[in-house]
Amino acid sequence: MVSPRWVKRLSRALGRSKVLDRLEDRFCYGFDATGILRVPDLVVRPETADDVVTAVRLAFEEGVPVTPRGAGTGYTGGAVPVGGGVVLAMERMDRIERILPEEGTAVLGAGVVNGVFQAAAERLGLFYPPDPASLEFSTLGGNIAECAGGPRALKYGVTRDYVLGLEFVSPGGDLLRTGLLAEGPDAGYDLAGLLCGSEGTLGVITRCALRVIPAPRARRTLLFSFETRAMAAGAVVSLTSERVVPSVVEFMDESCLLAVESAGATETGFGREQLVLVEVDGDPEEVAEAGLRVERAARAAGAARVWVASDGEERDRVWAMRRAISPALAKLAPTKVNEDVCVPRGRLADLMTRVEALSRQHDLRVPVFGHAGDGNLHINFLVDGNDPRERARAERAVGDLMRATLDVGGTLSGEHGIGLTKAPYLEWELGPSGMRVLGAVRRALDPRGLLNPGKFETYRGEPCS
Ligand SMILES: Cc1cc2nc3c(=O)[nH]c(=O)nc-3n(C[C@H](O)[C@H](O)[C@H](O)COP(=O)(O)OP(=O)(O)OC[C@H]3O[C@@H](n4cnc5c(N)ncnc54)[C@H](O)[C@@H]3O)c2cc1C
Repeated sequence: MVSPRWVKRLSRALGRSKVLDRLEDRFCYGFDATGILRVPDLVVRPETADDVVTAVRLAFEEGVPVTPRGAGTGYTGGAVPVGGGVVLAMERMDRIERILPEEGTAVLGAGVVNGVFQAAAERLGLFYPPDPASLEFSTLGGNIAECAGGPRALKYGVTRDYVLGLEFVSPGGDLLRTGLLAEGPDAGYDLAGLLCGSEGTLGVITRCALRVIPAPRARRTLLFSFETRAMAAGAVVSLTSERVVPSVVEFMDESCLLAVESAGATETGFGREQLVLVEVDGDPEEVAEAGLRVERAARAAGAARVWVASDGEERDRVWAMRRAISPALAKLAPTKVNEDVCVPRGRLADLMTRVEALSRQHDLRVPVFGHAGDGNLHINFLVDGNDPRERARAERAVGDLMRATLDVGGTLSGEHGIGLTKAPYLEWELGPSGMRVLGAVRRALDPRGLLNPGKFETYRGEPCS
């Protein structure tokens, strides 16, 4: 609980319009894409970095927890304010300050939506590759805090690879600028690197300097269908060993296609098949050659059908189908538990076999899709979370999935982070010494653990709904 006296003080310092205290407003900022809910005591919507400094300083003076939030599209509960206190909603810091084609840089507010930035860059003939499927909503601050990936990560890397500098507010309320945003020498630790993927636990990002690159001149989009998941996984390996680095290699199993069709999102034209979506980009001649090589490799790996987009419209239709998968699956059951484990590419088939076994063992529907080219699969457990027995089965299945992933040399998260939901398993991957180092870094900056509590650590407070 926050005291009324403190709320008044904060409102006076920031201006009343930036502070929301009505239940119906606070409720809207209490959950993310996991659906886990904890209503915060207060919501602050800063417009400037100074507002963030003021909010963090006053909250820390009072011992009030602060949870930064972008658009709340996170899949691991990172923006859910489990410790209560203040949600710092960054959506109003959405100014594109500049995009400089000659330098290949852009400076933007942390609340700028990824897709808005991509479109602005494209208008200048530029390209910002990190493209989480949530790009129409998720913010650059949230992308940096989660080190978001996306389909193009295989060729172009993840968010971290595009961050040239950050402005952020430390847990104590100091405003720091690094890299391209530093106003002078910038020696010492790579603080921007530390903030990438820190999930709102080490600082509140207020602005970012990002790298943009020339847009590829041509693209080719191909779809291959396979009879089994294992064949599709085998094809992913052979495609990427063809001396071509596709920009995209995505996998979708048959249940994802059926979900998209039954949600009416798009007519896929594919039936009980497993699909691999491949895109190559670059100069036109290079793309034509790469497309042929990829097609040859897919046929050799047993592709039953091959489909090539003939124009931009067909390409857009395929991408609409791909982006519709997650929301379409969510319509199939009251609760969709979305895990995003990542394994070495050569172990994808092993993981898929283990997932099929898990599905049988726990009697759960488990559709699979994801960025197979870099070993990152989204494993979705469809359950009725209101049924305690089904919920318990899903929890056991998630634990088994984490074990299976680590057994085949993988990692618990490809791109969605650890947050709240994966925190109980983190020690399985890092071991006690890894956990000690992680905790030491966090405590060095935030000894009282007031910035985004309950993330990266097992939450022991009141249960959430
Ligand atoms: C349909 C769908 C598809 C998705 N596809 C992908 C995908 O392809 N790739 C991928 O990587 N992810 C994907 N995601 C997950 C999610 O969109 C990303 O993690 C995204 O980066 C979250 O951004 P956000 O603005 O919504 O952040 P939020 O969910 O609001 O917050 C996420 C975390 O970042 C912290 N945070 C937010 N803003 C700041 C800030 N300014 N300073 C410090 N910390 C901050 C929060 O505290 C929290 O820990 C998908 C989600 C959905 C719903």
